[in-house]
Amino acid sequence: MNTLSLYIHIPFCIKKCAYCDFLSAPQFDAAGAYFAALKKEINAFETDKEIYSIFFGGGTPSAVDERYIADILDLIAKKYSIARGCEISLESNPGTLTENKLRTYKNSGVNRISMGAQSFDDRLLKILGRIHSKNGIIKSFELVKKHFDNHNLDLMFALPSQSLEDWQDTLENAIKLEPTHISAYSLIIEEGTPFYDKYEPADEKLDRDMYYAARDLLAENGYRQYEISNFAKTGFECRHNLVYWQGGDYKGFGLGAASLINSSRLKNTEDMQRYLDGKTIAETIVLSRFEQMQEFVMLGLRCTDGISAEKFKNTFETDIYTAFGDIIKKHEKSGLLEISGDNIRLTKKGIDLSNMVFVDLV
Ligand code: SF4
Repeated sequence: MNTLSLYIHIPFCIKKCAYCDFLSAPQFDAAGAYFAALKKEINAFETDKEIYSIFFGGGTPSAVDERYIADILDLIAKKYSIARGCEISLESNPGTLTENKLRTYKNSGVNRISMGAQSFDDRLLKILGRIHSKNGIIKSFELVKKHFDNHNLDLMFALPSQSLEDWQDTLENAIKLEPTHISAYSLIIEEGTPFYDKYEPADEKLDRDMYYAARDLLAENGYRQYEISNFAKTGFECRHNLVYWQGGDYKGFGLGAASLINSSRLKNTEDMQRYLDGKTIAETIVLSRFEQMQEFVMLGLRCTDGISAEKFKNTFETDIYTAFGDIIKKHEKSGLLEISGDNIRLTKKGIDLSNMVFVDLV
C-alpha cells in the first residue's frame, strides 16, 4: 500500500486502572507542554504518502481539552495529503465526553469513536478501578451515537471473580447499545500492576468458554468476527487496525509510540522529560527479510480472511511454501489451518488455538 497511517498517543488518564500497564498517567499539568512537543514531532516528519487512517489512542484522548485534538488534526490536514474516506478514530472513556467535545471532534474530522467500557457490571468495574459505572457507559455511549455512526465498545473478559453469566450479561448490555464494532479481549494480568500480586489469571476453561460465548452471541447479533478479538457489522471493520494486521506502514507520534516505515521499526522514548526535550526516537530496528515474512504471516493470520499466497510472493519474491511450507502443512493436518486455492487461514479451531501456530512461526 502506498499510503501511511498515523497513530497519536495521548498519555493522560483521569485515574490509573488497577490492571493497566499502558503508558498513561494522571499528569494533566504536562498537557500543554506535551501537545507542543507533539506538534513539533509532527512538523518534523515529512511524507508524500496519502494518510489512510488516523488513530488517537492512549491513555484517554477524550480526557484532554478537545481543542488540543482539533489543533493536531488541523496541523495534520495542513501538512499531509489526506486520503478520501480517511478513518479518524478517537479512544474515549465513559464520563469524559460532552456534547461540546463530540461536536468539536466531528468538526475537526474525527469520524469514529471507540469507547472503553470493559464491563457492564458495577462490582467488576470497581475491582478494575474504572472511573465509571454501567449507567455511565450507557449515557456516554448514547451521546456518542447522537453524533457518530461509526463506533466501538471495548470489552474485557476473564476478570477476577467474573462468572460466565456475568460475562454474558455484559455482552447482552453491549449489544443492546448497538455499537457498529465490538472488541473483546481476555484480561492479561501484567507484572508491575496492582493486579499482579493480587489475582491469578482466570481458569483456562472458563476463559475459553467466555471467548466462545462472545463469538456465538456476537455472530447471532450480526457482528462478523474479522480478527481474533474483533467483531464488526458489515463495513465497520476498523481500517486502522487492519493496517497493522496487513503489514501496512504507520507512523506513531507521541510518548512511547511505535512506527513501521519501509521495514524499519521505530520506537519513541517512554520518558516524558526526554520526549518534552525533543529527544523523541529511542530505538530503530531494521527488520530482516525473514522477520518481515514472519510478521506478514503472523499478523495476517490474525484476520479471519487469512493471507494470500500470491500477495506473499509478490511482496517477498519467494513462495510462501518454500519459506513456511512445513509449518503450514503441519497445521493443515492438525486442523488449525485451512488452504483454499490462494488463501491460507486459521480454521475456527485454529482461531481458538492460534498460539500453537504462532509459536511455530517464531
Ligand atoms: S483508562 Fe485505559 S489507558 Fe487509562 S488507566 Fe485505564 S486502562 Fe489504562
